Amino acid sequence: MQQVLDTQRDFFCSGRTKDLDSRKKVLIKLKNILKLNEQALYEAIYQDFKKSEFDTYSSELALIYHDIEDAISNLKRWAKPQKIKTNWANMPAKSRIYKEPLGCSLIIGAWNYPYQLSLCPAIAAIAAGCTVVIKPSELPKNTSAVMAKLINNNFDPGFLYVAEGGIPETTELLNLKWDKIFFTGSVPVGKIVYAAAAKNLTPVTLELGGKSPAIISQHCKLDITAKRLSWAKFLNAGQTCIAPDYVIVHSSIADKLVAAIQSEIEKSSYHTDNQNYVQIIDQKNFDRVSRLIDNNKLALGGICDIQNRTISPTLLYPASWEDKSMQDEIFGPILPILVYDKLDDALKRIKTLTHPLSAYIFTEKSSEKRSFLKQLSFGGGSINDAVMHIANSNLPFGGVGNSGIGSYHGKAGFDAFSHSKSILHKGTLFEPNLKYSPISNTKLTWIKRLLKLG
Ligand code: NAD
Repeated sequence: MQQVLDTQRDFFCSGRTKDLDSRKKVLIKLKNILKLNEQALYEAIYQDFKKSEFDTYSSELALIYHDIEDAISNLKRWAKPQKIKTNWANMPAKSRIYKEPLGCSLIIGAWNYPYQLSLCPAIAAIAAGCTVVIKPSELPKNTSAVMAKLINNNFDPGFLYVAEGGIPETTELLNLKWDKIFFTGSVPVGKIVYAAAAKNLTPVTLELGGKSPAIISQHCKLDITAKRLSWAKFLNAGQTCIAPDYVIVHSSIADKLVAAIQSEIEKSSYHTDNQNYVQIIDQKNFDRVSRLIDNNKLALGGICDIQNRTISPTLLYPASWEDKSMQDEIFGPILPILVYDKLDDALKRIKTLTHPLSAYIFTEKSSEKRSFLKQLSFGGGSINDAVMHIANSNLPFGGVGNSGIGSYHGKAGFDAFSHSKSILHKGTLFEPNLKYSPISNTKLTWIKRLLKLG
């Protein structure tokens, strides 16, 4: 690993990543290679956890292709020195912010969207002019292998390289001195990454998880709410970091909402006998998720097929804050449904938990939308939808507090791998004497006047 980093350090110091055209060429090449090998990508992910071609394209490859196109079209604008207003005290001068690549970056991916979560940060890093080592999650071993094969056979390892492996290999990588570490994964491992980065003062982006609430008001449009909510929760068998983790619904419509979600699930393709229903990634996660099902509260589902590693869409209703399913992030197809009477009480209760990665409210009432936005702190979210904010790459994506540090997608991704170098470019035509000796009260009066500080 040290050798890989040394190669990348030499490559970076050669200045070859500084040229915008060479960054674009790498991005175009990446897109072409992925397009040419789409079938291999589909087969690998299906072998890993039965994710269908439809889901893989719409929730992974489409985002990757979009990020590449976005970076290619906007790179010149993102990288352009930014003109900044100069203050009176420094006149005559020009002020600029120059974007420069941070250097050699390490990207550690999670397993649930294995292509997207490794490659989208890599696209941002390449666009910013960093070299990249990707360490994909080891759990979906076929997707990790196909990414390693496609990238390591086609790119200069000095610019872009995939290092496969689990905890020992990641630990080895974390012991090296990187210029940027971008991590996607769980809160406990995020803390390990942060501690390792601190030893070298390496800047980090941490994309973590948490319990993301969906609040359903009595002023929502029930049918569309149930449709959007069910899709967002059970997509990828609930293994989505921004899936609604639990629902909290107004008591007057709770029964109706449960019935509407049941009906949506029946109409959908989220069935364990569907060959395209996504599996739980491994036995350890299967055991963890299935243990969260409380049979006394089962309103739908609860079928755990150990042979196929599938769990049917499961509704727990009425759930309570003390339930097993309400203690940690679920990260599986189980939806606890809690009930509230006053929105303010619901918001107050949610606020006692750590900041979630996402939060959602379904309501037509403006005052409720305002309360939600004003009172809750969370990474990002949607009003009257769930998950779909990730599909707008103009919105920076990331957490706050326990759900993460920093953000990416679009320009935010470029910025995450860049340093903003602030430069004051002073003119030399004249030099006022105000700051120089001998000092005097008249000079002080003038300084106060010029600075307008009273
Ligand atoms: P994880 O933390 O177990 O693993 C993530 C990565 O860290 C993997 O590459 C793994 O090899 C490595 N790793 C695991 N243990 C390690 C250790 N002890 N030392 C060093 N490296 C280690 O997370 P996961 O199970 O892959 O993903 C699930 C979690 O990720 C959930 O909490 C989910 O919410 C979160 N997530 C967040 C986002 C986001 O964008 N914010 C996206 C997807 C998943």
